Amino acid sequence: MNLLKDPLFQALFNTSIPRIILKPNAPDFTIIAVNDAHEKITGKKGIDITGQNLWDIYQPEHSAADGAQQLLEALIQGIATHQTITMPPFKYDIPSGNAEILEHRWWKLEVMPIKGAGGNPVYVMITAINITEDLKTLKKIGQAKAREHQLAAELAASEARAKHIFSIAPVAIGVLSGRELIIESANDKILKIWGKQASIVGQPLCIALPEIEGQPFLGLLEKVFSSGITYYGHEIKAKLEHEGQMKDVYLDFVYHPLADAEGNTSSIMVVATEVTGQVQSRKTIERTEEMLRLAIDSVELGTWYINAETREFIPSDRLKSFFGFDSDEEMSYDEALSQIEESYRERVSNAVERSIMNNEIFDLEFPVMDRHDEKIRWCRATGKLYAGDMEKTPHFSGTILDITGRKEDEQRKDDFISMVSHELKTPLTSLSAYIQMLVNKSITTDDDFVQHALGRANQQVKKMGNMINGFLNVSRLGSGRIYLNIIDFNLKELILEVIEEIQLVTPAHTITLSPCIDILINGDRDKIGQVITNLLSNAAKYSPRGNTIDLTCTTNGSMAIISVKDEGMGVKPQDIDKLFNRFYRVSSKHTENISGFGIGLYLSAEIIKSHHGRIWVESEKGKGSTFFFSLPIYV
Ligand code: ADP
Repeated sequence: MNLLKDPLFQALFNTSIPRIILKPNAPDFTIIAVNDAHEKITGKKGIDITGQNLWDIYQPEHSAADGAQQLLEALIQGIATHQTITMPPFKYDIPSGNAEILEHRWWKLEVMPIKGAGGNPVYVMITAINITEDLKTLKKIGQAKAREHQLAAELAASEARAKHIFSIAPVAIGVLSGRELIIESANDKILKIWGKQASIVGQPLCIALPEIEGQPFLGLLEKVFSSGITYYGHEIKAKLEHEGQMKDVYLDFVYHPLADAEGNTSSIMVVATEVTGQVQSRKTIERTEEMLRLAIDSVELGTWYINAETREFIPSDRLKSFFGFDSDEEMSYDEALSQIEESYRERVSNAVERSIMNNEIFDLEFPVMDRHDEKIRWCRATGKLYAGDMEKTPHFSGTILDITGRKEDEQRKDDFISMVSHELKTPLTSLSAYIQMLVNKSITTDDDFVQHALGRANQQVKKMGNMINGFLNVSRLGSGRIYLNIIDFNLKELILEVIEEIQLVTPAHTITLSPCIDILINGDRDKIGQVITNLLSNAAKYSPRGNTIDLTCTTNGSMAIISVKDEGMGVKPQDIDKLFNRFYRVSSKHTENISGFGIGLYLSAEIIKSHHGRIWVESEKGKGSTFFFSLPIYV
């Protein structure tokens, strides 16, 4: 019976799986029959292809390179062994709906020999099971698995990374798990803050750090656990035991709740920074500030602050009170200036500007009028510019002191000096007149002694007269009265006159004058003469051993510059700035036997200043000094 016509075979053959029956005539394998499913999938009709060779219909180019070869081998093997051969997945592309485009398909081919009555294969049936979808699913599963692996690896890596970061983090970190606050992990930094070893990991916090009982931390952690809200602690003091010793540490910390999958807090991450140093230095600053405030209060100092950029002015209550403002009254910088006595106002505001612009020290004494009772109060203000930085703008700040008491004392002293000088001047004037008369009379006598004695007496009276005049000038200067008798004069002539006079009283010293041109000055000739006299007599007085005094007179642009150089004892750098102060004398064993009142240089400086000149000194201790002064040339 023809097997192919058998209804049972037909039923089995015509399934939805493509099948093809071949003649076992290797290597051609003539196509005997194909089922409907085969026709549907390949588009190759049974009547067109039956009787043809398998390889003429299924060109190997539609399959993977070695697919046709594998099928051939399977057919031969199946026929030889009478066994059904299942081939590994096999790619064979089939035309899609529009026949132009090939679709990729994977097939599992079963090569089944169908034996005839003689026991030998009479047909070979190839069943092509489309496993494309299965493969896709498998591929997806494979991909999912691979992804799972990758994720697991990533997780492990990120855990390792987290652990590493945790251990090297510049801040202290620890994790406390469960309500028992078991120390799950703690990096070296947190162990250091706690003063404990790594062996505490695994212990509840209250066992590992028993000393925190009674301190706020356990309560705070409990709260974070219950509320799930992060807690930030700022500069909290903790008493912790470090190697058996209790230690105060200040901490900034965060208690951060960590939630489990259900969103419940399961552990708390502690991140802490020790700020003990910071807190202590701030406390030291606060203490110092407090002490400074006390000191300022006890000496009744007023203070001020001027923002160098915006010129915002912040006076202290005491400063305001000096100007007659109550503490709750606003006082602007201009209002403060307007309370300063008119003759000083410009000087003060210029000095403030100079300090801010040129970074000069501000140190001035000036009278201020109380705006309520119009009482005059003398103030001394000292201040300087403080450089700014990233946080602060530069500011000009300082202190102000009520020196009215001292000024009144000075005034009384000046009044006294003035009165005494006047009282002394009257008898001295008549003494001088008598001596003058005697000098005139003595011309007729031959007595050398009398002549000599009268000459000396005359000199001494003159010296005393100069001293008294000096005192009178000082007291006049103290009350701001210096009288200048302004005329035009030749500076060179004046210098020569003074040298001649001084040379008479200081014969031990040689005074030289470097070549000097005629210079016209418009000023008080006597007073400038007095300055040169002061400098020359000081040069002689403070040079007990040196015997040369060099005077120069040069010009520099519009100024005449006079210098007096000696080879005397010199002045120490710390005394230089004070030499021109009233009554200032250097006290040392070299000067103790040299008489003086400390007013010569003060007067000289005031005279030069009132002529719009400058006076200064260069000196080296033990080597000598050079005093200079400058005066505007009259043109
Ligand atoms: P007096 O000479 O009366 O003390 P001055 O005002 O003239 O006062 O001088 C003030 C001080 O300056 C002196 O006491 C002295 O210490 C110092 N001084 C002045 N001139 C010289 C100088 N040429 N060399 C060294 N020191 C000097």
